[in-house]
Amino acid sequence: MFMRQISSIIRRQAMAELRPVVISGPSGAGKSTLLKILFKEYATIFGFSVSHTTRSPRTGEENGKDYHFVSREEMLRGIAAGEFVESAEFSGHLYGTSKAAVQTVLSKNQICILDIDMQGVRNIKKTDWSAIYISIQPPSYKVLEARLKARQTETEEGLRRRLLAAKLDMEFSRQPGIFNLVIVNDNLEDAYSQLKSILLEEIEMAKSLQK
Ligand code: ADP
Ligand code: 5GP
Repeated sequence: MFMRQISSIIRRQAMAELRPVVISGPSGAGKSTLLKILFKEYATIFGFSVSHTTRSPRTGEENGKDYHFVSREEMLRGIAAGEFVESAEFSGHLYGTSKAAVQTVLSKNQICILDIDMQGVRNIKKTDWSAIYISIQPPSYKVLEARLKARQTETEEGLRRRLLAAKLDMEFSRQPGIFNLVIVNDNLEDAYSQLKSILLEEIEMAKSLQK
């Protein structure tokens, strides 16, 4: 097992290729929370694919760091010009991964992390990327609802839409063959340790590429 892992690292190192990591799951499941811990522990190893969105920034969110906050017109123009790898409508707003966002991360020999919804997952699956797909799920729908409400970032309508999308997402995560790992984020420490475990081989690869 160990030897196989090493030879896989050497083979892919020769190709200078780091697998992108796609993180998905219902809004409020804890994706951003887990990613924040990961980026803190491995500041130079991972790079975040900064998506574009037409939704407004939340308190504390920075333009260009959390998202590129743009108008619908600007986003539609970019999509029409072929500037996006994927894009989707979620909870009444457009979201999308630009080619430039991914390129920025790869050019630094960092592992590219995408935080995208289930439509994004379906679309990335159609590309030739050899991505690692991870779903972050809440322990239950009730807990998710409580966490989303406690976060106090959504209007009543936003909350309703997100909870509706969450039901579909929870079903989607149970479909076989989509995700390499489904993490139930009940205890944050346990969830983080599972996330880290699946990424260890990739982390070693990135470390040796960055030497
Ligand atoms: P997402 O990025 O998936 O929308 P967040 O990371 O914003 O979700 O998490 C939603 C809310 O739940 C936040 O207020 C966060 O502090 C809280 N949260 C995240 N993980 C846990 C956990 N394991 N236990 C309790 N609360 C959590
Ligand atoms: P939020 O508004 O809570 O930041 O994100 C809402 C949803 O949009 C989340 O499920 C998040 O993963 C998803 N999302 C964020 N960026 C993108 C993107 O570039 N593409 C897609 N398809 N979904 C995204």
